[in-house]
Amino acid sequence: MSRIKIIIIVLAVIAAIVGAIFYVNYFQTDRAVFLNVGQGDSIFFRTGKGETILIDGGPDNTVQTQLGKFMPFWERDLDLIILTHPHSDHITGLVEILKRYTVKKIIMTGISHTAPQYLEFLKIIKEQEIPVEIAVAGEIEEVGDIKIEILYPLENLAGKVSDDLNNTSVVAQIDFLNQKFLMMGDAGFDVEKELIKKYGHNLQSDILKVGHHGSRFSTDVKFLEIVSPQTAVICVGENSFGHPSPRTLNHLERAKVIIKRTDLDGNVIVNREERIEKSNQLTNH
Ligand SMILES: [Zn+2]
Repeated sequence: MSRIKIIIIVLAVIAAIVGAIFYVNYFQTDRAVFLNVGQGDSIFFRTGKGETILIDGGPDNTVQTQLGKFMPFWERDLDLIILTHPHSDHITGLVEILKRYTVKKIIMTGISHTAPQYLEFLKIIKEQEIPVEIAVAGEIEEVGDIKIEILYPLENLAGKVSDDLNNTSVVAQIDFLNQKFLMMGDAGFDVEKELIKKYGHNLQSDILKVGHHGSRFSTDVKFLEIVSPQTAVICVGENSFGHPSPRTLNHLERAKVIIKRTDLDGNVIVNREERIEKSNQLTNH
C-alpha cells in the first residue's frame, strides 16, 4: 500500500472519530425545542442524560424528522408524552410516534372526542398498555431534572364531552434549564381568567408558549402582564385562520417580549448555557 493511501485511511479514521465525538457531545446538553412542524404544536424537552418529554405531535409526521435532529438515532424511547387536547394539529404526529417509539407514560385529559386520529391514538395506547395519567391541576411529574406542574384542567375531564376542546387544553408549567416554561396548548381567554384566579403571580414564567398559535382569542393583556415572560414562542405554520393575529403580536410587542415563531425562525431552541437575558435571543436552526 502506498504511503499516500495509508495517510488517507488514517485521516479518514481520525475524521470519523472526531465526527462521532461531536455527535455524542451534541446530545449531552439539556435542551428544549419548539419544533417547527407547520401549523400545530410539538415541543420537545431532553436532558443531556437522555430523559425526554414530548408535548403534542403536530399535524403530520414532520415531528419525526425534527426529533431526529435532537435525539441520537439509537434512542427509540420517550419518557413522557403530554397530549394537550385531541385536535388534529396536536395529535396526528403522535399516532406514528406511538408506533415507532417506546413511550413510557402519557398524560392527557381523556376528554371524549371521536376524530379518527384520537381513536387510533387511544387504540394503540390500549394495545401497547402504555400507562396513562389523567391531567388534573396540582399534579407534579418529574422526568430527570425536568419538573412539570399541571395547572389545568382544574377538574378531571376523562370521558366528558366539551364543545370547546381548545379550552380543555392541558396547561403546564415546566421548570427546566433554570427557567420556567408556561405551556398553554390552545387555551383561550376563559382559561387564562381561571388560571389568574387560581394561581395569580405564580403564573410568572420566563418563556410563554403562546396559547392557540397566537389566535386573537388568547393572550389577554392582563394575562400577559401576570405571566410577564421574557420570550414568547408562537408555534405556527401556514394557515387560513389568521394565526398569529396582529392583535396578539401587538400585545407582545407592547409588553417588550421577545417573539419567536416557528414559521419564521424554524426550530426554536433553548439551551442552558444560552439564557435569554444574557444572549437576548434564542438560538434558531
Ligand atoms: Zn392547535
